[in-house]
Amino acid sequence: MKASKNFLRYIGILRDKVFTGPEIVHFHINNYCNLRCLYCWFHSPQVKRKPKPKEIGFEDFKRIIDEIEELGATMIRLSGDGEPTMHSKIKEMIHYIKNKKLKFSILTNCVFNKDIREILIDADEIFVNFSAPNKQVYNEIQSIASEIVFKNVIRNIHYLSIFGKGSVEVQYIINNRNYKYVYEMMKLASKLGVDSINFKIMDIVPHNKNLILSREEIEDFKTILEHCIREQRKLKIKSNISSICTIYSKPSFIRGGQKRDKYRGKDNVEKCFIGWYFANINLNGDVTPCCRMNHVIGNINKKGFREIWISEKSHKFRMDGKYFFKMNKGIWNDCSVCEWRKLNHKYLKGYQV
Ligand code: SF4
Repeated sequence: MKASKNFLRYIGILRDKVFTGPEIVHFHINNYCNLRCLYCWFHSPQVKRKPKPKEIGFEDFKRIIDEIEELGATMIRLSGDGEPTMHSKIKEMIHYIKNKKLKFSILTNCVFNKDIREILIDADEIFVNFSAPNKQVYNEIQSIASEIVFKNVIRNIHYLSIFGKGSVEVQYIINNRNYKYVYEMMKLASKLGVDSINFKIMDIVPHNKNLILSREEIEDFKTILEHCIREQRKLKIKSNISSICTIYSKPSFIRGGQKRDKYRGKDNVEKCFIGWYFANINLNGDVTPCCRMNHVIGNINKKGFREIWISEKSHKFRMDGKYFFKMNKGIWNDCSVCEWRKLNHKYLKGYQV
């Protein structure tokens, strides 16, 4: 079934049309959290105006999932401007997705109880925001966390890595409080049995500027990264450590700071096909074609998902991505840090066949 839907996406790219729904729908279901990560855009203790707690109603959620399924989407990825497992109806939501025979993935901090952990065993993908390999760093970076919380997170990650049916990926946001512990994190992730670790460059907003690495720290970090690369084979853990090393070694990256890396590696995006395989739904109902842009193509509270997906605005976005993509320009302003390189390359390969 997956192959035939992907085939329809390839054909759509070739013919400048759309024949099925997205491969992944990233769905923000709430905006509150049980942690206070220093780098977080919304819940850092350094954020003065905290968002008013909100969540999507279960009836609206079901309606949207029905529409997405009918359109032929493959996977729902639950997320939030906070922790999605805290949604008051999270168990019902997960059951609803699974009953629809849609694949299910989630972005979480793994701070939850046994009940939620048992439900997540069925997830096809779990991405864990976990940026500290020991309790001291965890308490510092993830703010209100106590030793009990750290142990709970470790237990949950380990359990899901062993008994979960899908993959578990740790996401480590690099900043000046944790860059020294990258190798330690690789060792821990390997010990816990996770499938991969993804090191991410922190997105900079005014309140987290104090977490940017200084020039001296970047030099120090480069030495640490080289050590990680030499040792990574022994750890038997999949990671993007080599790409991170390449990015941090670029002089333009150091000059420009971390805000806009002008890195142009061989794996950079030449055309963007995300309009065929992805959609992001924000908590206010706005639908955007990519999480890295504010380009709204419709609102789910005003129109059905199908109507938005096949709309003129969506078509224009697809055509722009295919024919007029310009790295770091206009709506593509943040694309040099594209997290969809792999999928874009996969679709580019299919398109060139
Ligand atoms: S970040 Fe990547 S996937 Fe998103 S719009 Fe830019 S090139 Fe496309």
